[in-house]
This record gives sequence, C-alpha cells and structure tokens, in this order.
Amino acid sequence: MKNKEIHVIYGRQPEKMVYEVLEKMDVAKALTPEMTVGLKPNLVVAREAASGATTTPEIVEGVIRYLQDHGIKKIAILEGSWVGDSTKKAFEICGYKDLARRYQIGLYDLKDDSFVVVKVGDLDIKVCKRITELDYLINMPVLKAHCQTLMTCALKNLKGCIPDSEKRRFHSLGLTKPIGYLGKAVVPDLTIVDGLNGDLTFEEGGNPVEMARIIVGYDPVLIDAYAAELLGYRIEEIKYIPVAASLGVGSADLASAELFEYDMGYKKAGQFKPSGKAQRLAQKVEAREACSACYGTLIHSLQRLADNGTLGRLKQKIYIGQGMRGQNLTGLGIGNCTKSCSTYIPGCPPKGKDIVAFLEENL
Ligand code: SF4
Repeated sequence: MKNKEIHVIYGRQPEKMVYEVLEKMDVAKALTPEMTVGLKPNLVVAREAASGATTTPEIVEGVIRYLQDHGIKKIAILEGSWVGDSTKKAFEICGYKDLARRYQIGLYDLKDDSFVVVKVGDLDIKVCKRITELDYLINMPVLKAHCQTLMTCALKNLKGCIPDSEKRRFHSLGLTKPIGYLGKAVVPDLTIVDGLNGDLTFEEGGNPVEMARIIVGYDPVLIDAYAAELLGYRIEEIKYIPVAASLGVGSADLASAELFEYDMGYKKAGQFKPSGKAQRLAQKVEAREACSACYGTLIHSLQRLADNGTLGRLKQKIYIGQGMRGQNLTGLGIGNCTKSCSTYIPGCPPKGKDIVAFLEENL
C-alpha cells in the first residue's frame, strides 16, 4: 500500500534527487493535466535555506520541473510565514519570487487570503481558502528541531496554511492538540521533506546540521514518526504525532512501513565541518571521511543527550566515518564502517533513536 511507503534519497544535488525520487514513485500517475497542484514549503522566516530554517528552493524547483514535464500547468507555491515575519520578504530572500517568475507559476502569500472553517471533532479550525481549493497538495517541510514541540516536520508545517489569528490561537491552545487536529483539516497528498541541513535546535535556523537527504511519503504521520526517530526522539515524545494518529490522519507504526533508500553518491561526500553548537557537541567525536547523513544523525543524537543532561557523562571517544574501516580502536563506533571498534552500533547510517540508546548504554 502506497501510504506505508517512505522513500529516502541521500545526496547533495537536491533538484536532481527530488526529480529522481518522484520518478521512482511514479507520483504523476495520480495527477491529470487539469489539476491545480499546490506546493507548501516552510518559509517560517525570511532566512535562506542554508540557515537551516527554510525549504531549499532547488528542491521545489525539482518538483516544479517534474510536474511540468508530466503535463501539469496549474502549479502554485503557497505559504504564510510565522506571525512575526513577512511572507513576501521570505519569498524574495529565499529565492521563491525568482523561482515563480522563471517557471511562470503562482506565488501566494496566505496572509492575504480569506479562510473557511473546518470542523475537526470539537475544534473549529480556520484554513486559508486557497489551500482548500487545491486538487493536490504537496507539503514540503524542513526536518528540524523546535523549541516547543521538539521537532517540526510534516504535520507542523501545515500551520502555514492557517491565518495569523489562528496561529496565535494554536499557541494559546498549547500546540499539541491543534497541530494533531490540523492534519485532519488540511490533508497533504504527498510530503517531501527537506532533510538537507535542518536546524539542530530552533525553527528559525542558525545551527544547520547537514543530513544530506530528502524523505518522501504519502502519510504525514508516518513521515513524522520516521523523522522523530531520525532525530533521536521516541515517537511519543513528539506529542502531536499520537494525537494525529488517534484521529486517523495516518499511522505512526514504523514497523509496518516500507522503507526505500537510494544513494546518489553521498557516501563519497567526504568531510563534514561542524560549526558553532554542533562543534561543541562533537568534542568527543573523531571523524574520518564521515558521510554527512551519518555525521548529522550523530550530532542530533548528541543534542538529545545534551537535552536530557547526560552528555557530560559520556567519557569514551566516538569514532565515525569510512576512514575508520579496519581500525581496531577502543571507544564507541557509529555505523558499519566502525565495526572493528571495541563497541559499535551497526547501520549505514544508523537511526538517531538507536544512536541515543547506544550512547546511553555506554555512559
Ligand atoms: S556507516 Fe560509513 S558508509 Fe555508512 S553512512 Fe556511516 S560513514 Fe557512511
């Protein structure tokens, strides 16, 4: 069943990667030329994608090319930045104004839109009208941490589809319930996650961590469950995921998911250069030719240890990277390349949740 599919493509060529994965999934099969397709990136603030805050425009460009090559003419980019920022400024700074001009597609600031009320259980949710008029919605979040909900990815990105007054009300309701319920009011047909270099700690960026992947799937709950474990969380810690699952928005059962992984040469990517906060987290890490996807997952996992106050108890050296193959080192190895270390966790790359458990076992 398509809803159970999670496709992950690794690499550093976003436009090519997303085009290739959409071809592999044969997404166009569900589309007809008269359909209006909406693309909902994450432009929460007016900061470039390199900051770790916003969706990489090259990924959106790859999607537009794919859609146009398959006969889709009515394409629109739609977003409403957070309450404190201007969407129009974000369109300009993040490269979306230029993108819309080059491909002759619509660009809509949802802050200017009217709304319709969608009832979900006991909650009336105001949803921007243009979103409800689409035939096919492609949700394009950034995989990153969030200071209140811990993570932001598929479900939380839909918050850009509601008016500012509703965004404020969501905060007054404590975010968990309304975000879970919003997944029922705005149902994305496809989710394409920018997992290239999302932020380590805050949704507004500033500490990007290279993760070198794009994740695609049909079920936003399943995608969020996968993303949570990737960042080293247990699914239940991201509280809106079980809320959305209980409403039937999707399934958080990763055991029944079908995972497809494609490597576009990222394993040749070489050195990762952590900066700022990531560098401080990596004090015990010795990396040699580490793939970004592996190294980035380790950094997120170390942040989880920092969050729960156990990082300081980590005394052993941590080894990672292809350059560690065949080295008989005393310490903790991350990934299949380090299987000659005294202790190691398998995987290529291993999941964040498993790395966290492994490090905690070896404090
Ligand atoms: S285990 Fe080795 S090859 Fe695999 S992702 Fe990690 S560093 Fe790369």
